[in-house]
Amino acid sequence: MTKKAIIIGGGIAGPVTAMALRRAGLDAEVFEAYDRGADGVGAFLTLAVNGLEALRVLDLHELVRDLGMDTPVMEMRNSRGRRLATVRQPSRTLKRADLYQALRDEAVRRGVRVHYGRRLVDAEVTGDGVRAIFADGSGAEGDLLVGADGLRSRTRALIDPGAPRARYVGLLNTGGFAEGVRVPGRPGVSYFVFGRRCFFGYLIHPEGQVWWFANPPSRREPTPEELAEITPEQWRARLLDLFEGDAGPMREIIAATPHILPGWNTYDFPTVPKWFTDRMVIVGDAAHATSPSSGQGASMAAEDAVVLGKCLRDVPDTADAFAAFERLRRERVERVVAHGKRNGDGKAPGVAGAFVRDLFLPVVLRQVEKRDALAWLRDHRIAWDDRVAV
Ligand SMILES: Cc1cc2nc3c(=O)[nH]c(=O)nc-3n(C[C@H](O)[C@H](O)[C@H](O)COP(=O)(O)OP(=O)(O)OC[C@H]3O[C@@H](n4cnc5c(N)ncnc54)[C@H](O)[C@@H]3O)c2cc1C
Repeated sequence: MTKKAIIIGGGIAGPVTAMALRRAGLDAEVFEAYDRGADGVGAFLTLAVNGLEALRVLDLHELVRDLGMDTPVMEMRNSRGRRLATVRQPSRTLKRADLYQALRDEAVRRGVRVHYGRRLVDAEVTGDGVRAIFADGSGAEGDLLVGADGLRSRTRALIDPGAPRARYVGLLNTGGFAEGVRVPGRPGVSYFVFGRRCFFGYLIHPEGQVWWFANPPSRREPTPEELAEITPEQWRARLLDLFEGDAGPMREIIAATPHILPGWNTYDFPTVPKWFTDRMVIVGDAAHATSPSSGQGASMAAEDAVVLGKCLRDVPDTADAFAAFERLRRERVERVVAHGKRNGDGKAPGVAGAFVRDLFLPVVLRQVEKRDALAWLRDHRIAWDDRVAV
């Protein structure tokens, strides 16, 4: 009999897992908390080559090829405009909302049912399956439940009420899309500037828009209410001030942005001890959110989806399949989280730290390239046809 999976969350991990599970011979249904209209918000993200290759396993690479732009090179400069490093790193950068929409649409095209406005609040084990309960009082039954419900996962708390809270990493995020401004550089390069008081990243879209983000440091974790109170114009004034005196086009880009995105905090999860029960499992950010500084959150979500699909295909007992999934994924994703934390720490180092960074970063990055020290991250490939050992 075909097993049915209830998938909570219609972000990246949710729809991709649904498609992987269907390929593995399961039935899958996605339940997303927000209405479809909530898709249009958010910034952009990078799919690293390992994430693109995970999507290729499910024939989703062409879908992302039509979105965003290739970004094969990263260039880093300090606050005086000195180039610290240029690194080759194949990737594709796209708007988060475009990616979500494309993945959901493709899941539907492949026969996955996607429901909106269904927020998971509880789940109970039934005789031989699991029943999800939603905030609107409705329910859904399946043989297993996959929590792809992101950083604040309800599924994680249902699996382990004592699960740790996400770690705030001391950086805020904001950004936007600047229009009609000419800045130094060319499409295909991600430019990063270690400003004296704030980190900045920008890309030039082939059609001229400049996509950018900034990471103002904040030791204290602002509440969501405090962040919501900051208006786009207050962000603009604050950012213009933070980049005053730094070399680079940051102030021009900020000034040319019609709408500065509302700010958000940055979190990660060094470790989430319990990923599954007999019937429920977490994937993507729910299990191992990494700071955006790793550039790998979306890629890890895609890899998880493919590996979980293989495990459920090859391991007959559901709980054993979840155990195999954890065995195959935990070490890698926790290494990625640690890598992202280290990258983020370099963004707000203080005066002495900045001096040391400027001195050593070029040397370290040259060594990284020479020794191919990030091959473990970038060259990871998942062979769909290889069977998972029970
Ligand atoms: C600003 C920013 C920049 C980033 N930059 C990058 C980058 O450059 N590269 C990269 O790889 N990653 C980046 N990331 C991370 C990336 O967006 C996430 O790692 C990725 O989206 C994880 O996918 P996910 O599906 O696990 O979680 P999400 O994308 O967060 O999706 C979770 C979904 O679950 C839904 N949901 C939540 N609770 C419930 C519930 N109770 N019931 C039903 N549905 C629920 C949510 O509405 C959401 O749609 C960035 C993240 C942010 C915030």
